[in-house]
Amino acid sequence: MTQPKLNTSPKVSDEIKKTTCYMCACRCGINVHMKEGRVAYIEGNRDHPINKGVLCAKGSAGIMQVNAPSRLRAPLLRVGPRGSGEFKEISWEEALGLATSWLKPLRETAPEKLAFFTGRDQSQSFTGWWAQNFGTPNFAAHGGFCSVNMAAAGIYTMGGAFWEFGSPDWEHARLFLLFGVAEDHDSNPIKMGLGKLKERGARIVGVNPVRTGYNAIADDWFSITPGSDGLLVLSLVHLLLKAGKIDLDFLARFTNAPVLLDSDPASANHGLFLRDPEGRPLVIDRRTGKPAPWDGEGVEPDLSATHRTAGVTHRPVFHALVERYLSDDYAPEAVADRTGISAARIRALAAEIARTAFEEAVTLDREWTDFRGVTHKTMTGRPVAMHAMRGVSAHSNGFQTARAIHLLQSLIGAVETPGSMRFKPPYPKPATSHPKPHCKVTPGKPLDGPHLGYPQGPADLCLTADGKPARIDKAFTWENPLSAHGLMHMVISNAHAGDPYKIDTLFLYMANMSWNSSMNTSGVMQMLSDTDENGDYVIPRIIYSDAYSSEMVAYADLILPDTTYLERHDCISLLDRPISEPGGAADAIRYPVIQPDRDVRGFQSVLLDLGARLGLPAMVNQDGSPKFADYADYIINHERKPGIGPLHGFRMGEKGVQHGRGAPNAAQIDEYIRAGGFHVSHIPDEAAYFKPWNRAYQDWAVKLGLYDKPDPYLIQLWVEPLRRFQLAAEGKGPAQPPEHLRAQIHHTLDPLPLWYAPFLDDAIDPAEYPIHALTQRPMAMYHSWGTQNAWLRQIHGHNPLFVPTAIWQEHSFQDGDWAEVTSPHGTITVPVVHMAALNPHTVWTWNAIGKRKGAWALSEDAPEATKGFLLNHLIHELLPPKGDGLRWSNSDPVTGQAAWFDLRVKIARAVAPPESQPNHPPQKSPVGKGPKTLSWQVRK
Ligand code: SF4
Repeated sequence: MTQPKLNTSPKVSDEIKKTTCYMCACRCGINVHMKEGRVAYIEGNRDHPINKGVLCAKGSAGIMQVNAPSRLRAPLLRVGPRGSGEFKEISWEEALGLATSWLKPLRETAPEKLAFFTGRDQSQSFTGWWAQNFGTPNFAAHGGFCSVNMAAAGIYTMGGAFWEFGSPDWEHARLFLLFGVAEDHDSNPIKMGLGKLKERGARIVGVNPVRTGYNAIADDWFSITPGSDGLLVLSLVHLLLKAGKIDLDFLARFTNAPVLLDSDPASANHGLFLRDPEGRPLVIDRRTGKPAPWDGEGVEPDLSATHRTAGVTHRPVFHALVERYLSDDYAPEAVADRTGISAARIRALAAEIARTAFEEAVTLDREWTDFRGVTHKTMTGRPVAMHAMRGVSAHSNGFQTARAIHLLQSLIGAVETPGSMRFKPPYPKPATSHPKPHCKVTPGKPLDGPHLGYPQGPADLCLTADGKPARIDKAFTWENPLSAHGLMHMVISNAHAGDPYKIDTLFLYMANMSWNSSMNTSGVMQMLSDTDENGDYVIPRIIYSDAYSSEMVAYADLILPDTTYLERHDCISLLDRPISEPGGAADAIRYPVIQPDRDVRGFQSVLLDLGARLGLPAMVNQDGSPKFADYADYIINHERKPGIGPLHGFRMGEKGVQHGRGAPNAAQIDEYIRAGGFHVSHIPDEAAYFKPWNRAYQDWAVKLGLYDKPDPYLIQLWVEPLRRFQLAAEGKGPAQPPEHLRAQIHHTLDPLPLWYAPFLDDAIDPAEYPIHALTQRPMAMYHSWGTQNAWLRQIHGHNPLFVPTAIWQEHSFQDGDWAEVTSPHGTITVPVVHMAALNPHTVWTWNAIGKRKGAWALSEDAPEATKGFLLNHLIHELLPPKGDGLRWSNSDPVTGQAAWFDLRVKIARAVAPPESQPNHPPQKSPVGKGPKTLSWQVRK
């Protein structure tokens, strides 16, 4: 017999380069296999703290991303009208010269006329630093239209939030509650974590209107009606309080439940904390029965004691809390209809939480000492972990809903304890330890401080002397006081309206604002191309940087083409959004594993070049020469403060290389490359839990450079900054809100979590628009990047509207049907598909799959452009007029988070049009069209 000669161990690659994936925001470690200098394939890095070798569909499809036909090839100057897609290629020298000539006069006369906003990039500490040096107050990234509710609620309440700042204790959790999580966020860690839970027989409960992805493998699924999660959670709080199933010891020691409130209605400080002369909030010490500072040595806070002075009985937060949530308004029977969850199921879930928390407590045999000097023999925790993301966040009640989840966690002692949720360094970090927002403009000079921050009261708002918004997005105003991530989704409409002022140059990075990243997409395209009475563009100049020919490219005047993620330096920094895990502080790099074959440059290097040309002080030497050669040089040599730079590993100390604090090390990036692209500083065992209160953790964090000094704090069940805004709304204090916002501020900025109906419900007739409409991102795609990827397009080539059984039957839909979907703002006509595992009042579709013809180098008959669609056309950045002469924002009134998921629609069968509607005319493609097939062989 002759057998074919098979090579069963072919040589896979000549070389492996270890870097960081950027096919989503998860930042897994990857091994890029190279053959003859080209990428042959990508696998997961088994040593990496995030993914431990796991690679998702997106990650392995990176090879198609770096070879995508849609890659921009050279700087472009618009030659046709805005929106047409007509450009000519220019040199970098011309491009940077032009940008400098536009921006230099602005900096010298009116820096606020530059609005610089970035999308999903991972270098915000750098881009913010650049904008601060330029001197404009108008900088933010995409958080305002993504999940700022989740981040701000977490930081104001717990000193940390889910996802990048916190994670379930996958090793010890026995019950896991997952609220509204998109499948592409934290993709591999959640999948790996769910696997661990399944392996140990822990229970997974999904709370989500849609049962796909993570929810599909949950042991129990609660098909919540969109926008009502907060009501469900507060009903659980009600039941646990009523049953006495709360962790009194945790509440007394580690939360502000025992902190005394000024209970004198006549006081200017009514509802704020009673404080000692040093300003420290007071509790009653059980040892003495007298008021004592919350953090005094050995103090034992009393949860229920009151303090009577000058005829007033001052009560602790705990009293207010119990009083509110024992109300029958939160009884399961009272919330069942609105949430779509029966009272019996709510009771069963509360019982399951109580049983797991209090009958299956996890005890680790580790002694630790808290900030009051009390030594605990063990670490004991409640093994109930929770996690939430955008499904909860993207509502006008999302901030308070996220707070409600944190209240639930705290009540059962399930924050930073074994089995619950753990913070990832540099968190925990309370809101009081973050900067406040800054907005003071001085022509020719840097801004007076970082743009974004955490206001502590009305005095910290970004208002001009005459009370007008200082920022183009109106962040940190009475309309949305705690807008910690800015409001990128309002920039274009405000700039178009000249409200609060006109700008000159809109500078965007990696944000598809003329398509899937904006509400009112058709309107935004119009705003970007609108002209005034002189025929000039209303937004005079638009500069855009991206690696790909997205829909936004056609609306820019000048394109600065970026590299792909395998062609660039990046740092995933502890100053920003690092790759830390609960057990260690970790950061990572990207470095060019291939060289660009086009005339493109990494955006961060371009910004440094532009900064030097503009003479921005931190970017030039005394002789005016550029301070940094490129971004890699910045990563190595920039110090945010002495000894603290973008990367914490391999810095220089007196005795050589050290981690954490230290002087710049010229070989730092080489060291990272040698180490696999990342560095982890592990937290010692005795410091690994109870981090906000654990002396060992606090000391470790100071040594590493995360804090300047120990910074213990209490979980803020009662958020005092919110109460300060309420006091202003009551007419107290020098800073007063506009009359029309008083009631809204008083109601929604409640210092205790509350639930109110999504704003759109009150602005429309819910009977006319009875259906909730949502988008989700699939596991296999990350926004519009993934939907142009030749491999990933084969998984999700178009996006039908999924319709639940009752609505499907009511309209007698059949397979292959189309529907007209109408909101108060517009109508789309789209294909429908039946889905049973869905909340009966909700329709949904995959996000960002629909494409505009001509964009992304796709052919004009690509299914993404003919059958794909966006729900964005149905959503407006403003609520429908209420008849009061005002236009109210379609966002959370606390943070300004875009309320994408408040959308309500009606649906009707439609005659199938040739293509989904609305159908925008094609843009010309500055990169041509991709070939019919894309194939190559790296080597035989
Ligand atoms: S989860 Fe995200 S970062 Fe990780 S491999 Fe997949 S795409 Fe890459």
